[in-house]
Amino acid sequence: MNIIAIKKLEAEGVMMSEEYWSRISGKAKRKIKARLMQEHNGKPVCHSCGSYVHDDRDLTIDHIVPLSRGGKILDLNNMQLLCRKKCHSRKNAIEVNEQYFRSIGL
Ligand SMILES: [Zn+2]
Repeated sequence: MNIIAIKKLEAEGVMMSEEYWSRISGKAKRKIKARLMQEHNGKPVCHSCGSYVHDDRDLTIDHIVPLSRGGKILDLNNMQLLCRKKCHSRKNAIEVNEQYFRSIGL
């Protein structure tokens, strides 16, 4: 699925999910990453802890408002680059906990 197809679905109000995100091509994601890196002079820096990664594959595109909570899938304002090992895994763990507590009504 390319970006135009996804934008069309988004405009039609189709619920965007992790599944759609996983179907966006690697090429499109590399473009998004390059765009987000411009905020840090094109350098591969984690937007949360500020650490520099040597390989930009260690940075992952994170949706600030998770897709599971209605965050926009292709809104650059809803995206940040996080270091995979520390910040992204920590944020994921927090989100999984939140989902669990919501699922049991807490
Ligand atoms: Zn980080």
